[in-house]
Amino acid sequence: MARKALFIDRDGTINRDCPYCHDLKDLYVYDDAVQIMKEYEEKGYLIIIITNQSGINRGYFTENEFHLFQNELLKRLKDKGVNVDKTYYCPHRPEENCNCRKPNIGMIQKAMEDFDIDIKNSVIMGDRDDMEGEMGRKLRIEYIILKR
Ligand SMILES: [Mg+2]
Ligand SMILES: [Zn+2]
Repeated sequence: MARKALFIDRDGTINRDCPYCHDLKDLYVYDDAVQIMKEYEEKGYLIIIITNQSGINRGYFTENEFHLFQNELLKRLKDKGVNVDKTYYCPHRPEENCNCRKPNIGMIQKAMEDFDIDIKNSVIMGDRDDMEGEMGRKLRIEYIILKR
């Protein structure tokens, strides 16, 4: 049976934002984000991170550094009782005009290929109306913008 999903932004939503976050010393996880993800997980939602990471193709950090940071974040979330089902990331610069860079919806389309998702009843959460809010409006699904 199709499952609802919580599509959640990473930088500025789960962890404190920093310019092109990739250094573990900058990794600070917000308690309220943990609490929100836990609540959705308990309600049966898939927990899916969708994150723009143009710092990769801008050459600010490597794909490997991205994974080190991401794996540490996932580990800290797991320690707090949150299991993330999948992370999608866009490594492209805006000029590459890809379909996955938010507010485009490519990462969510990919998630819908990988999982059986009840998209109508899914939720997008983030810290930017021009990103996650815009995606919610394109998909005509609920979105929640956290004020940081
Ligand atoms: Mg953000
Ligand atoms: Zn992309």
